[in-house]
Amino acid sequence: MLKRPSILVLGAGYGGLMTVVNLQKVLGTDAADITLINKNEYHYESTWLHEAAAGTMLSEEVRYDIKEVIDSVKTKFVQATVEEIDVVGKRVLTDSGEYTYDYLVIGLGFEGETFGIEGLDKYALSIANVKAARYIREHIEYQFATWSTDPVKDDSRLTIVVGGAGFTGIEFLGELANRVPELCKEFDIPREKVRVICVEAAPMVLPGFDPELVNYAVGHLEAKGIEFSIGTPVVEATPEGVKIKKGDDQFEFIKAGTVVWAAGVRGSSVLEASQIESMRARVKVEKDLRAPGFPDVFIVGDCALMINEETNRPYPPTAQIAMQQGETIAKNINALIKGEDTAEFVPDLKGTVCSLGEDDAIGVVFGKKVTGKRASFMKKMIDNRALFMVGGAKLVMKKGKFNVL
Ligand code: FAD
Ligand code: NAD
Repeated sequence: MLKRPSILVLGAGYGGLMTVVNLQKVLGTDAADITLINKNEYHYESTWLHEAAAGTMLSEEVRYDIKEVIDSVKTKFVQATVEEIDVVGKRVLTDSGEYTYDYLVIGLGFEGETFGIEGLDKYALSIANVKAARYIREHIEYQFATWSTDPVKDDSRLTIVVGGAGFTGIEFLGELANRVPELCKEFDIPREKVRVICVEAAPMVLPGFDPELVNYAVGHLEAKGIEFSIGTPVVEATPEGVKIKKGDDQFEFIKAGTVVWAAGVRGSSVLEASQIESMRARVKVEKDLRAPGFPDVFIVGDCALMINEETNRPYPPTAQIAMQQGETIAKNINALIKGEDTAEFVPDLKGTVCSLGEDDAIGVVFGKKVTGKRASFMKKMIDNRALFMVGGAKLVMKKGKFNVL
């Protein structure tokens, strides 16, 4: 009897989990051995991390047990941290042993990109995973608590700088705009003492997004006391705050107790250290999502780089694309096992909705602009749909967002 092929999936984010649940559906009974390796025994919704970081949602609410959504008969789950990927030797080293494979799927997700800017990796916080998000929440609370008890009132403790006005920065600001008044009440702090400043390098907020929607978002956030410094890149971070560039040889220092860096992402450093060629830790994948030169290795989600031929620019790394890639990879592995041809991955982009706190949002959905409560409702439905695709109605009932206003 021939040995069953073994499929190793690294990472239980959107891409990894969608690959596994779809493999479970498409593979015939006993067609392969599936192993899923993830750092934690839980998956976390990366798309909700800004809420956990601001403290408008508990970090426990953002995550759920992986074993709840996979079929333990068909898939073996291993909680371990991947330390090295050796695609030449076809083995993966983890902190709890070595794993070999016939087919490998790498879905280790994103890390914050600091572009080598001095001090950022040391002094800025990044909304990179669920533990980092909880740390940000606790750091902000600590700053507020210390200000209110310290006889020497250093108001810069109450200044929060958010680097980057991309979707992550804006969604985080939307949550902070609602959270700051709550924190002021909790710690007896006058609201006017608190400054939340978003620093963006590009000449506009949400560069490239619809200008009318951008104006709506900025108006909404400014009305809640958020300040913007646009066209002023952060050039350095220190323990006291950040230095921003305001023009040729003109700089300003913003003293701040909290600096959150939300100015872009890169792929996994573990993948970057492997033999596969990558750019900012992302692999420019073949049309069927395989790694060039390694026909038994697929890359899913934020570790994959794909060029949109219409714009000649990379597709943005999103959960939407990661989930769709997971479906294609499952079908392609099934095809390879059966000796059939693989299919090309074609993203089916439905739009983008950016939340501005729990009750407002902006977006373009199926080509139509949406704002306000309608957009916010759509955002929650998108979140619920993602849960449904991984864990069905049961997961939606357990973790879904039903606080529709
Ligand atoms: P991830 O979701 O990052 O999952 C990676 C998994 O790998 C994690 O479980 C991690 O623990 C695990 N892992 C990492 N390293 C190791 C290791 N060494 N060993 C073992 N396991 C490891 N996209 C959208 O489409 N819509 C949105 O509304 C949206 N909102 C966002 C909001 C925020 C605040 C952020 C930060 C991102 C948002 N995104 C959104 C982008 C989206 O979250 C990512 O594109 C998506 O998470 C990528 O999925 P992934 O499976 O590649 O990786
Ligand atoms: P991003 O790359 O989309 O935005 C980063 C922002 O930081 C840019 O506006 C950039 O100009 C700015 N920046 C870069 N260097 C800077 C500097 N030195 N100083 C100040 N600003 C600087 O990254 P992101 O917002 O982290 O998003 C990552 C990915 O996740 C994207 O693909 C995004 O589409 C996706 N995402 C989607 C949603 C959503 O759909 N609702 C929400 C969050 C994130």
